[in-house]
Amino acid sequence: MLAVTVLGATGSIGTSTLDVVARHPERYEVYALTAHRSREALLAQCRRHRPRVAVLDREEDAAWLRRELAESGLSTEVRSGAEALVEVVEAGEVDVVMAAIVGAAGLLPTLAAVRAAKRVLLANKEALVMSGALFMDAVARHGALLLPIDSEHNAIYQCLPHEHRGGLAKHGVTQLLLTASGGPFRGWSPQALATVTPEQACAHPNWSMGRKISVDSATLMNKGLELIEACWLFDARPDQVKVVVHPQSVIHSMAAYSDGSVLAQLGNPDMRTPIAYGLAWPERIDAGVEALDLFQVARLDFEAPDEAAFPCLRLAREAMVAGGTAPAVLNAANEIAVDAFLAGRLSFGGIAEVVERTLEALPVAPAADLEAILEANARARHMASDWLQRR
Ligand code: NAD
Ligand code: MG
Repeated sequence: MLAVTVLGATGSIGTSTLDVVARHPERYEVYALTAHRSREALLAQCRRHRPRVAVLDREEDAAWLRRELAESGLSTEVRSGAEALVEVVEAGEVDVVMAAIVGAAGLLPTLAAVRAAKRVLLANKEALVMSGALFMDAVARHGALLLPIDSEHNAIYQCLPHEHRGGLAKHGVTQLLLTASGGPFRGWSPQALATVTPEQACAHPNWSMGRKISVDSATLMNKGLELIEACWLFDARPDQVKVVVHPQSVIHSMAAYSDGSVLAQLGNPDMRTPIAYGLAWPERIDAGVEALDLFQVARLDFEAPDEAAFPCLRLAREAMVAGGTAPAVLNAANEIAVDAFLAGRLSFGGIAEVVERTLEALPVAPAADLEAILEANARARHMASDWLQRR
């Protein structure tokens, strides 16, 4: 029996994780569930999954949840605050941590799970983008088992030899082919893109996801973050990761080998597949996902990304090449810009502009330690917010 903590339990990934977990009560029990503000959703999850601990950000929400749980006769202990997130991953009883908080807020608890040598299921790509070398060093030093949940990276993981550290060339891998759906605005001109609304941006053709990653998918920043994520996870150089637009989202990514072989992982676009893979690795379990019907898919298309219309992909690649704190700055500026776009304070095209200006304004520093990374994150947020206000 494995005890699981789900960080960001009420989100899209968190909910899918609990769906898979609940299909296998003989394998998994829920240790802790955490959410930011969504206390009603967390209450419903506590009733259904009976965690030992539940965590909310604000003490007033925690007090409310405590009362509600007591009335339902449940013994779940409720805690609040950022410290509690770290406690529920470090606890000795915990075997598996699903890192599914969105954004930089997930960095500290995810890193704590790595340092506590847990099985870490990484959905929170922003944490790895921010802290790259430091994060991967911690994985190696503490002997954590890191399994990528992002569907592309999970696909590549499945297409690589199990012990793949030490550079791709060592294993005969020449290129990682990162597939992208192209988002809801694939093929749109920059002029048409200028006026898109948050509702349009969040209506993804193939995947149903949280609002932040939906906007990132629409700008292609998501693919940029994933390029950085792939470099760290698989010891790849940025030029070894090629983005391939594949509108059907059936091939989740590929690895190309020196003998000409290309290995791909296919499946219906449903995050429960990579989640089940991470939970059960090296075994396979039912994920509740329908079998892929190739006759219904009928065809697979591929095209190159349009980096002129979607500059975020280029900005992310440049930040990875620049190294140091540049990816943390990119990520922070993007989070501020996406928030502003979702709140109706910034145009769609403005997102890339905020990111580019922030990267230009802040010098790249070595990402020597966590303090340097957190400082770059804070400065970039400040600068991006400031620019939005002065405009
Ligand atoms: P979501 O917005 O649906 O859920 C986010 C969760 O994190 C919620 O439970 C929320 O309460 C919690 N949260 C938000 N802000 C927080 C904060 N400041 N402190 C603590 N908790 C906070 O997001 P999602 O779509 O589930 O995505 C989660 C992560 O997984 C993101 O990093 C995303 O990039 C990644 N991911 C998601 C998908 C997907 O299909 N949704 C696919 C690949 C990767
Ligand atoms: Mg992805």
